[in-house]
Amino acid sequence: MQESALPSPCYLIDQAKLKANLTILENLRRDTGCKILFAQKAFSSFPFYSMIARYLDGTASCSAYEAQLAHLYFHGENHVCQTAYLPDEMTQLAEICDHITFNSPQQLERYAGLAVAHGCSVGLRINPEYLSQQLDEFDPCAPCSRLGTTAASFPEALAAKIRGLHVHALYEQNADALERLVKAVIDKFGTWLPQMAWLNLGGGHHITREGYQLEKLAAVTEMLQETYNLTVYYEPGEAIVWEAGYFITTVVDLIDNGMPLAILDASAVCHAPDITELRYRPPLIGADKPNVLPYQYRLGGRSCLPEDIFGDYSFDHPLQIGERLVFRDMAINTLTKAKMYTGMPMPAVAVRETDGNCKILRSFDFSDYKNRF
Ligand SMILES: *Cc1c(COP(=O)(O)O)cnc(C)c1O
Repeated sequence: MQESALPSPCYLIDQAKLKANLTILENLRRDTGCKILFAQKAFSSFPFYSMIARYLDGTASCSAYEAQLAHLYFHGENHVCQTAYLPDEMTQLAEICDHITFNSPQQLERYAGLAVAHGCSVGLRINPEYLSQQLDEFDPCAPCSRLGTTAASFPEALAAKIRGLHVHALYEQNADALERLVKAVIDKFGTWLPQMAWLNLGGGHHITREGYQLEKLAAVTEMLQETYNLTVYYEPGEAIVWEAGYFITTVVDLIDNGMPLAILDASAVCHAPDITELRYRPPLIGADKPNVLPYQYRLGGRSCLPEDIFGDYSFDHPLQIGERLVFRDMAINTLTKAKMYTGMPMPAVAVRETDGNCKILRSFDFSDYKNRF
């Protein structure tokens, strides 16, 4: 069907853009010999896994559920790195995963034997104390962080069990940040690197974004692999679905209270929580930032929540009830975080295939809301 025939609200995944992103990553693997894993938390939409798997080495999971999904639908290397594992999950994880990374010396000591007995490669998540972000609240290396083991706490007595080190400290960053991160890793953990089989440099690499310094990433990767004779892994999530999704909405009411307000048939809080949680401001097709075009609107959701605001935008024409508004770059953290709080229905999910044809993959109804209990 045509895009105009899709229901509203609807998440639309763009297969051509997904493939373009994946091709960049596939070329990087080929050119450098590094391995690239798909970090699922931004987009755990398993109907796309077999396609993504054709371009990458495997998956990165941060929970047993994600590892199970990857095991069922991805069929690549299955890596898991969770802040703490529960005894009940450990045996199954050891059976379905190839690499298990522990966050602390205690967790490593408790479960490494079981992991090794199942043939898993054991890793330790490290904290190189390299701050890369604006706000400590979101930085895994902030003071007193619970994520990763610092050099001071490195479990020397267990070092022989550790086959790889894992570090995740970047967020939407370019390769200059990667260079600084790697310098911090070498400064703090350089003595351990020669005995490692792999080094996982986590996610947060905005590799598929225009202007990303691919040559710099390749140079860092090659330097590490040659100096320490190990395999470098990256596990981007966002970079894989960067700009590969749209959110189709419709104007259902117009109100004036100090400024023109347009109510959409969707909810920012429920359907695109990064807008309210992380102050994300998605681009909107045919609109611009406030005060650029002549008609100003604040776009709001139809839930009862005061904070349910998509944002302020300007348009070249007055909005009409029934008009469709399509947000761009809405594949990341939308489906995975969507909720039905206040009884908001879940949007449908559709794909635009590479030939331009659109297809509905899933729709939801009242039973999905009721069955959450
Ligand atoms: C979130 C996360 C990733 C993926 O990060 P992106 O910003 O989506 O690239 C990779 N590894 C770990 C450990 C993570 O927590």
